[in-house]
Amino acid sequence: MNKIGVLTSGGDSPGMNAAVMSIAKAAAMYGMPLVGIKRGYNGLLRKSTSLREDMEELHLDTVLDIADRPGTYLRTARCMEFMDPAWREVAANTLRAMGIDGLVVIGGDGSFHGAEHLCKLGIPCIGIPGTIDNDLAYTEMTLGYDTAVNVCVEAVRSIRATSRSHDRPAVVEVMGRHCGDIALTTAASTGSEIVIVPEVPWSVDEVAAHLNKELAKGNTRATVVIAEGCWDSMEPFDLYTFLNSHGKRCYEGEPMSAVRLASVLKRKCGMVEARATVIGYTQRGAEPTARDSQFAFEAGHLAVRLLRDGISNQVIGMKNGRIFYESIDTALQKERVFNRELYDLVNAM
Ligand code: ADP
Repeated sequence: MNKIGVLTSGGDSPGMNAAVMSIAKAAAMYGMPLVGIKRGYNGLLRKSTSLREDMEELHLDTVLDIADRPGTYLRTARCMEFMDPAWREVAANTLRAMGIDGLVVIGGDGSFHGAEHLCKLGIPCIGIPGTIDNDLAYTEMTLGYDTAVNVCVEAVRSIRATSRSHDRPAVVEVMGRHCGDIALTTAASTGSEIVIVPEVPWSVDEVAAHLNKELAKGNTRATVVIAEGCWDSMEPFDLYTFLNSHGKRCYEGEPMSAVRLASVLKRKCGMVEARATVIGYTQRGAEPTARDSQFAFEAGHLAVRLLRDGISNQVIGMKNGRIFYESIDTALQKERVFNRELYDLVNAM
């Protein structure tokens, strides 16, 4: 194998640049030229007017400057065309035409499905799990998860300062799509009183009863950490009737949100005020923690070594604190197991 490529795909995550840096260092060590492909799989579809828009030879000089920067230097994007076999054929032909013999894909499970298809078209691929969500069952951690959790922990601590000062419970929404891991780890790490996740069914009344218990104990600065996907597992609640009957304007069919939940809890728990904070993209825009950076370092090197050794169709992960790899197919068939014990403990204590 001679020249290899790398792309970042799906949502950006802290550590993607660090992984690209490690790939560049390893490629240089093994004497393999490296091409960076821009905006996920889009950079392979030859839709831009200039090649520079789509690809760039990555030299160590460039990547050494980006290693600890958040975001992704290569840019990332979703690429709907890649669901279509004809477009995937275009991508494989582009790689062949550019003399790129192997590809490292940094992204989540969707991106790995794309890589698996490219493997079937004769392009060796290796995946690195770049997503803050921690939603891949085969690995103990995904790249960016640790950083995202640390941002959330810091945010909850800051919010709690005001919660204490004003005797005002807080609702804090964190990311994670359909995975409650960021919420659960944040809640456990901050001693938050309530955590709500997509994996466990819940109801507004239950949460209000729980918060009322905390208030009755004199805990007026409780924190409710909610995962952005938690509305999927919420028992139906008539927000419109409830808020309108309490003199608060709400539109029929308006979906529940962190702000609306805080508003409902305020009324159900007789609080003077309850505020919601949505942490949002700050979780993706932080400099990677040491844990994520080390994972990026090890995974980047392993990806290049596997390609050099003619091993393909694999994803890299972490098991018992050690880097490992297994086939994309096996990895993606594994089912996530939510840490229900920790969830119960957070909500019980
Ligand atoms: P993530 O990789 O973080 O899971 P997405 O699910 O949005 O993010 O997938 C990122 C990209 O991967 C998609 O925009 C598409 O280009 C590609 N992709 C996703 N699913 C598939 C699939 N089943 N087949 C081929 N390509 C896919």
